[in-house]
Amino acid sequence: MINIRANRCDYCGACVSVCPVDCIEVRESSIEIEHAICIDCDLCVEICPIEVLEVHAAE
Ligand code: SF4
Ligand code: SF4
Repeated sequence: MINIRANRCDYCGACVSVCPVDCIEVRESSIEIEHAICIDCDLCVEICPIEVLEVHAAE
């Protein structure tokens, strides 16, 4: 599962463009991930220039 440190996001949309299943929604001042659709490929984590997204290991 991907964690969002939303207060750090600048809503650039880079993560949206790499998500293969299109489950990230970025608006002018909000970001959401539809976790039920996410396949945990971590591409969004790698592309984010300011480390807003992080992998949250299941416990
Ligand atoms: S790439 Fe990072 S900063 Fe840009 S919209 Fe996604 S989470 Fe926010
Ligand atoms: S981990 Fe992959 S599937 Fe999940 S939100 Fe990020 S880019 Fe999309």
